[in-house]
Amino acid sequence: MKSFLPLNIRIDNKRILFVGGGKIALHKIKTVVQYTRNISIVSPEIQDELHQMGFTEIRKEYETSDLEGFFLVYACTSNLEVNRRIKNDAAAYGIMVNVVDNRELSDFISPAVIKQDEMTIAVSSNGENVKKAVAWRNTLKSIVQRGDFQGTCQSQGNELVKTTAEIGIPVPDLHKKGYVYIIGAGPGDPELLTIKAARVLCEADVILYDDLVSSDLVAQFSARKIYTGKRKDSHHFEQDAINEEILRHAQEGKIVARLKGGDPFIFGRGGEEIEVLREHGIGYEIIPGITAAHGASAYTEIPLTMRKVSSSVAFCTGHPVSKVQVPDTDTLVYYMVASTVHEVLDAVALKGRNDTTPVAIVQNATRYNQKIITGTLGELRKGDKQVNSPALLIIGDNIRHSIEDNWYSKKKKIVIAGEDFSHSGSAESVKIHFTCKRDGAGHTVGERDEPVDLNFIDEIYFSSPSCVSDFHTVYQAFPEKIRVKTADQATQEEYVKLFRAC
Ligand code: SAH
Repeated sequence: MKSFLPLNIRIDNKRILFVGGGKIALHKIKTVVQYTRNISIVSPEIQDELHQMGFTEIRKEYETSDLEGFFLVYACTSNLEVNRRIKNDAAAYGIMVNVVDNRELSDFISPAVIKQDEMTIAVSSNGENVKKAVAWRNTLKSIVQRGDFQGTCQSQGNELVKTTAEIGIPVPDLHKKGYVYIIGAGPGDPELLTIKAARVLCEADVILYDDLVSSDLVAQFSARKIYTGKRKDSHHFEQDAINEEILRHAQEGKIVARLKGGDPFIFGRGGEEIEVLREHGIGYEIIPGITAAHGASAYTEIPLTMRKVSSSVAFCTGHPVSKVQVPDTDTLVYYMVASTVHEVLDAVALKGRNDTTPVAIVQNATRYNQKIITGTLGELRKGDKQVNSPALLIIGDNIRHSIEDNWYSKKKKIVIAGEDFSHSGSAESVKIHFTCKRDGAGHTVGERDEPVDLNFIDEIYFSSPSCVSDFHTVYQAFPEKIRVKTADQATQEEYVKLFRAC
């Protein structure tokens, strides 16, 4: 079997040749250009986007002598015979060659890469499972993206070693018997997934996920995905059916990731699911998640406890109304209140809470479309505010005024249509990914279950002309206030043609 040694090769002052000027070459060059611009392209035709990148172009058919003076060669033609010839010629010259999509012919292969300043993370599967390497890269990317990971590594030097080792450890054979992980996905922001959850999701054979788990989050993993939430005909999967589904996959010997919104043990029915596994002798683990109350608290600047103001907090359900309780704690948090918020507020008032007590309703906490409604208990009882699910109700003196203006609301919300090759600024912004048709295998336009609510968006980035047209098929227009950025001239022209023509 071929094996590939990972190395970082010095390439300054070395020339790199690409044979081929189409999509394949473009894709490779987008990685290489992050390290050197000393690139030449030999091809009778060179596609526009590549041409605009401004490398040395030799517009003709490939000949052996083209290889002279180059350090590395990428054979990116769509003709296997030509690629084979390049390989043989390069061997005669003593030049290392990468033949795209052909590890047998390649002297070196390209890992899936994340580059941030001087740091590079490269993921390789020895050329055997490109999809898996890309899935790993995407998971790591989501961890790295806002620099939070970097912060952790700097402050806890030894932890870095432990954490990366942990990510790399394959799931033990023991689990081949079938094993279930009950995992909390957090309240919405995909970066609120724990490192442990991300590692397990990478290794899982099947992911069964709920309504509250964002499709962007699950899309990063290569496992088979089964949606167990509300279906189009608005029928829920019954809990029994879900339990059976988990059991069935486990009994087939699979590693099953049962992914739930927030934390599995806070109104998450995780307890019922492990009950069934226990009965059938299936091994399991529980990975906690950030519950909606904690997400909402952090992303709206409402401390759930606060010295001298609130020394206790209760998590309660607002549904069904007949079950609503009002414990005697300083802070009250109600889950599942979208249709019962007024009844819950009445119950709280009836219990003797002052009319001036501050109240916040937080919809879509930690997501790009987070919305906060505030007022006093008296005011909100009178109002008839429309509340959309998912929403939390928080009541207590720990809620300060003007929480609408919080750190999260100040972040720029950017829709990235297509691949995020050159668009930076991740620390200051929240990115919402719009999957384009030509982006990757098997994706369809607008795969998200829900369309993006453009009223919350500050900027849209289009990575290619075809992404502009894919986006246009879903959203024919968008609010004027949204800034548009495009990857290149051709994309800009397509944008003007489709969105600004009239
Ligand atoms: N296990 C979940 C709760 C599931 S019950 C957790 O720990 O968070 C579903 C309820 O959770 C919703 O009705 C809503 O009240 C709350 N919820 C979940 N995600 C939310 C979000 N992003 N914003 C506001 N409320 C949310």
